[in-house]
Amino acid sequence: MIEQKRILATAVPGPASQALQKRKTAAVSAGVSTGLPVYVVEAAGGILRDADGNQLIDFGSGIAVTTVGNGNQRVIDAVTAQITAFTHTCFMVNPYETYVEVCEKLNELTPGNHEKRSALFNSGAEAVENAVKVARHSTGRPAVVAFDHGYHGRTNLTMGLTAKNMPYKHRFGPFAGELYRVPMAYPYRWPGGPEACAEQALRTVTDQIRVQVGEDNCAAVIIEPIQGEGGFIVPPKGFLPGLADWCREHGILLIADEIQSGFCRTGDWFACDDEGVVPDLLTAAKGIAGGMPLAAVTGRADLMDAVHPGGLGGTYGGNPVACAAALASIASMEEDDLAGRARQIGDVLTDRLGRLAEKYDEVGEVRGRGAMMAMELVADPESKEPNAALTAAVNKGCHERGLVTLTCGSYGNVFRFLPPLSISDELLHEGLDVLEESFTAALG
Ligand SMILES: *Cc1c(COP(=O)(O)O)cnc(C)c1O
Repeated sequence: MIEQKRILATAVPGPASQALQKRKTAAVSAGVSTGLPVYVVEAAGGILRDADGNQLIDFGSGIAVTTVGNGNQRVIDAVTAQITAFTHTCFMVNPYETYVEVCEKLNELTPGNHEKRSALFNSGAEAVENAVKVARHSTGRPAVVAFDHGYHGRTNLTMGLTAKNMPYKHRFGPFAGELYRVPMAYPYRWPGGPEACAEQALRTVTDQIRVQVGEDNCAAVIIEPIQGEGGFIVPPKGFLPGLADWCREHGILLIADEIQSGFCRTGDWFACDDEGVVPDLLTAAKGIAGGMPLAAVTGRADLMDAVHPGGLGGTYGGNPVACAAALASIASMEEDDLAGRARQIGDVLTDRLGRLAEKYDEVGEVRGRGAMMAMELVADPESKEPNAALTAAVNKGCHERGLVTLTCGSYGNVFRFLPPLSISDELLHEGLDVLEESFTAALG
């Protein structure tokens, strides 16, 4: 395992990375961009080492994927053994035990004690697509409702569900039909103020569905229990349980998109656990398999089994190497109490980001849960004008100082913190020192 130490050997990015970036520009579609073009040669724990010998602190986990950390020994051993045994048969042709075992685990760990079934796929977007297929098939209804600031992927259906135009949707339409969008319960920017947000948002959402869609036409409402790309927006207490109750009353399925928030990220197995919300269908991906591509839909047995045999699947879905990695990752989460570790990381982030907020008026809000924390930057606390310029400047400063940070938000003014749960306290604090330094430099 590489030494858990930040090292600045050259400028970031250094000459080797710059040369590789030149090749990238000549070979890779310009549509695929790179947030921080340092080319990684090795990674473990909370460190990424690049082609120039720089070692960067990782506050992104490859967008909430390497929750158990790169270089996790359980994952390495499980993947190595599986690759040696076999790499692919296609579960729909010749099945294997680990696929079934991952589904058993999902059925056990996801919210609710009811009978469940799961199905495995390759990417988050594919899981969302399949959750919608199951919802439409089992209810016989066409409409799907998503939220402002929501993100669900880049395929045609999931672009349609995603709120933000640039860069996800711009000139990629037309999008799939029967998709509707309603306001998100966003306490910091709710016109009636944060205290009124839960109740007013629930009324607005249910009114709009009734008036604009009709409950009987509505197959499902899909929501991220903590929104990811849209800005780590945490709905106020009561909103999600209220939404779940209302959906149940009207035979509308609640799909929790836990692709970013799931698998210990927020300090629970799933973000829905915080308020005991039990969705009808849940999508998972990202943190599920230690970096191997795997995604899942888990849901009520009656819904998942309503689909005719052969109606769900895909060539690679639930690939055996990815399943081995998932079982090893889940074992790590259980045995190393990574949910507890996420809460500890959350305490450190809350404290340190809170102190930044006291010091700088530009920090409008610190929010999130566990190791899924963010701060929203504004011009000043009164106007709450989104401050994308400062966000970009601080982000650049962090990168140059050897800290991998990610931004998000509909207005590009939110810093999100998603460190691997295997990061040491030392690196966590050092990363936050770098953030503070970059903040001071950007404002000075
Ligand atoms: C990342 C993400 C997706 C899409 O996952 P991909 O694997 O990139 O297709 C969907 N929903 C949420 C909430 C996500 O964060």
